[in-house]
Amino acid sequence: MPHSHKYFCLLFSLFLSLCSTTALGQELEKRPPQANAIPLLPQEPNTDATYKALRKVGPGEIFQLKDVVLKRDAGTFTLNGSLTFLASVNGKVTGAVFYGKGSFDLVPPIEIERKNLALLTKEPALHEQFDRMVIRFTDGTFDEIKKVGQPGGGSGGDPVDAMDTINKRLRKDLKYNLHGRILEDVMSDEPGGLFVAFIDGKKVSSKLLFALDPHGAPPLVEMSVAPEEVELATYEDQKTGIWSAFHLSSEYADGSASGTQANDIVHIDHHFLDTKIDKSGKIDGSAVTTVISNVDGLRVIPFDLFHTLKVRNVTDVKGEPLSFIQEQNKEEDPDYFVILPKPLGKGESIIIKTIYGGPEAVYAAGSGNYYPIARTNWYPNTRIGDYATYDLTFRIPRGLKMVATGIPLREYDEGGETISEWKTTIKQAVAGFNFGDFKSQEVKLDNEAYRVTGYTNVEPPSILQAYSGYNALGTFNTTGMMKKAVAEGQLSVQLYTDYFGPAPYKYLAITQQYAPGYGQSWPGLIYLPLTSFLDSTTRHNLGFDDFHGYFKVVGPHEIAHQWWGHAVGSDSYRDEWMGEGFSDFSASLFLQSFYRDHGNDDYLDFWKDEHDLLLTKNREGKRPIDIGPVTLGYRLGSTKAGFDIPRRLIYPKGAYVLHMVRMMMWNPQTEDADFKALMKDFVTTYYNRAATTEDFKAMIEKHITPPLNAGGDGKLDWFFNEFVYGTALPDYKFDYKFDPMPGGYTLNATLTQSNVDEKFVMPVPLYLDLGNNKIVKIGNIKMVGNSSKPIKVPLNGILEAPKRALVNYFYDVLSTQNGK
Ligand SMILES: [Zn+2]
Repeated sequence: MPHSHKYFCLLFSLFLSLCSTTALGQELEKRPPQANAIPLLPQEPNTDATYKALRKVGPGEIFQLKDVVLKRDAGTFTLNGSLTFLASVNGKVTGAVFYGKGSFDLVPPIEIERKNLALLTKEPALHEQFDRMVIRFTDGTFDEIKKVGQPGGGSGGDPVDAMDTINKRLRKDLKYNLHGRILEDVMSDEPGGLFVAFIDGKKVSSKLLFALDPHGAPPLVEMSVAPEEVELATYEDQKTGIWSAFHLSSEYADGSASGTQANDIVHIDHHFLDTKIDKSGKIDGSAVTTVISNVDGLRVIPFDLFHTLKVRNVTDVKGEPLSFIQEQNKEEDPDYFVILPKPLGKGESIIIKTIYGGPEAVYAAGSGNYYPIARTNWYPNTRIGDYATYDLTFRIPRGLKMVATGIPLREYDEGGETISEWKTTIKQAVAGFNFGDFKSQEVKLDNEAYRVTGYTNVEPPSILQAYSGYNALGTFNTTGMMKKAVAEGQLSVQLYTDYFGPAPYKYLAITQQYAPGYGQSWPGLIYLPLTSFLDSTTRHNLGFDDFHGYFKVVGPHEIAHQWWGHAVGSDSYRDEWMGEGFSDFSASLFLQSFYRDHGNDDYLDFWKDEHDLLLTKNREGKRPIDIGPVTLGYRLGSTKAGFDIPRRLIYPKGAYVLHMVRMMMWNPQTEDADFKALMKDFVTTYYNRAATTEDFKAMIEKHITPPLNAGGDGKLDWFFNEFVYGTALPDYKFDYKFDPMPGGYTLNATLTQSNVDEKFVMPVPLYLDLGNNKIVKIGNIKMVGNSSKPIKVPLNGILEAPKRALVNYFYDVLSTQNGK
C-alpha cells in the first residue's frame, strides 16, 4: 500500500525528506498470553479458494458494443468495440478488457477539482481517447453491458495479455492488492460498488486510472483520498499524480459530502499489543484486535500492516484459525486481509488475534539507538485517526528504556528482557513508541498532574560517523540540550493550554530520534530529531545549520500537534492543512511569548520565512502559493508541480490562515481573548475526533467579530474562498505623509489593493511606528477589489511626527507589498 502522509511531522529541510461481544471483551481485560508462549505452527496464507480463483481468473463471455455509454458518477465512457469479461468467481463477474474505439470524459462536480484537473489537461475537464482499457468492478457493470451489448464475436485483441499487464503493474508499480479489495465484495452477500478503469489513453496518458469506491477510492497512486469515493490519476514515471478526487456527485447535491463521512468498512475499537523487539530491531508481535463492522455482510477485513511484517497465525478469540491473505513478496502487494468464516452484520464485532513479525520495521542504528520506521502500521491497523484504546506490552533488550503512548503501568526485567506495560485512558488516533539506551529528565508542571520527561541517547548512533564533522562529537553530550527541550515542553504546554484549552494527555515524553531531519508527534510522545539535541557548534560541524530557524520551532511545533492532529484529528487529506498549519502557527505563539531578547524580531522573522516559503519557486519553477488551495493537501504533489509543493504550502499557508484570523480578532482592550475563546471552543467541540475545514469555518462564524464579518452576512465565505479554498495573493501599495496640524499631526495616505478579483474583500490593518519598538494599531481599512483608498487620520496629541506609518506590520494579511 502506498505510504500515508499523515505523519504530523516537521521536516528540517527538503533534502532530508525521509520524510465483540461484551462477554468476550471483558474476558480480555486480562492481558492475553505473550506471543512466544503459543506453540502454533505457522499457517499457510492465501489458501482461500475464492481468492485463488480471483488472482488467476481468465476470460469469459464476449460482447460487441456500439455507442454504448457507461456512466460512473462524473465520468462517462463511450464504447465502440469488443468487451471480453472475466469468467465469474463465486457467481460474480469482476472485470473486463475492452478493445476498440473508446472515449472517456470527466467533468468534476466541484470548482476546485475542475481547476486542479486543468493542471493536467489545460481545461476544466478530461477528454481522453483509447483503444484498450481494463476494468475491474464489483458493481452492476456486467448486468448493464449484457443488456445493451451483442453477445459473441471476437475479442479484438489479446485480453489475457491486457489483464496480465495490469496485474503486473498492480504488483510492481502500484503495490496494491486490488484482488483483496475485490474479494471483500465477492465474498459478501451485499451488492458491491467498486469500479476501477485502467485506460491506455492516447492524448493525456497511457497510464490513466479512474476509480470509484463507496468505501473511499482505493490507495492505488501515491496516497489515499478516502473518504472521497472518486479519483482520477496517472501513474507514468514522468507523469504521476492524483488530478481529481471528489465525493459522489449525489453527495454534493444532498449535502452529505464531508471529510468526516464514515465510509470505512470497519472500525477498530481496541488493540492489545504484545510486542517483542530484539537487538537487531526485529519485531515479534501479537495483536488482539477488536474490529467492529460498519457494513452488513462483512466477510473480508483489510488491515494496514508494514510491508516487511509477515503474518504467521491468525485466530479468533477461541483460538480457531482464520484464513488470511498476505502475498509473500514484501516489495510488491503484501497487504494483509483476514477472511471471516461467516458474515458480520453492521455494528457487530469480532476479536482477531494476529501473530506476526519481521525485520526492518525498527532500525537498529547502533550504540543503543533504535529508530521505529513503521509508525502507523507496526501493528495491524486501519488508519491513523481511527480513534481506539490500547493496552501495550513491550519486551526489549534488557536495560534499554521504552517510552510509549499511554500511561506507564509497570516496568520490570525478566531474563534478557526489560518488559513494560502501558494503557490508554482515552481513545487515541494511533499508538507509538520510542526506545533506546536513554537517560531521562523530568519536570512536573505546577498546579497540575502533568509531567514532561525528556529522553536522550547516551551514545550517538553510528549514522553520525557518516558526517564529516563526526570528530567534533568527541564530547557528545545531549544533557544540556535535553534540559532545553524539557523546558520548552513545559513552556509550550502552559502556553497552548492558555490558548487552546487543557492538554489532551497527562504525560508528555520528549524523545530523541535517530533521524536528523524531522520531528514527529504521537499522543503524549514527541520524537525530536537527533540534531535538535546538539548545540549549535556541533550542528554546524556536522553540516546542519539552522535552516529557517528550524531548531527554534521544531519542539513547539511537535508539541502543538498534541492539540492539532491528536486532540482534534482529521479524516481527509483536505483537512490536514489544519494539523500542520495550526502547529506551525502555535510555534509562532511560542516565539512571540518566549523569544523576547530582540523584541518581536524572532516572531517577525518566522512570518517572513513563512512568506518566503510560499513565494519561492521550486525546482519545477512553481511557487507553492500558485499551485492550488491548502485543502488539496498532499494531492498538490505531482511530477508537474513537484512533490515538495505540499510541504512548502500547507505548513506556512495553513499557519497564515490561522494567523490572519487571530490578527482580525485581536483588539487592544481584550487582546487575544476572542481568539482564545474560539480555539478553546473548537478543541472542546471536536475533542478526540476529526474536524473538517467546514467545521472550523462554522466555529469562526459562531465567534465572529466585526472585522471577520467583512462579507457582511455573518459568514466567513469571503475569507475561506480567498485564502482556504482559493489562492488569493493581494498586493498592497501604501504611500503616506504626516502633515502638522494644531495639537498634533494628520496622516494623509493612499492604500492601493491589486492582483485580486472584483469581489475580493480584506480589512487591512494600519499601524504607526512611534519609535523605540512602539507599534500601535490604528484600525483596519476595508479594501474591495482592485482599488485605491485615500486615508486621512487626525493624530491628536502627538507632538512629534511618528517614525513611520505602515500596513501589515505583523504580516497580518498574506499578501505582497509593491510586488514583493
Ligand atoms: Zn507537523
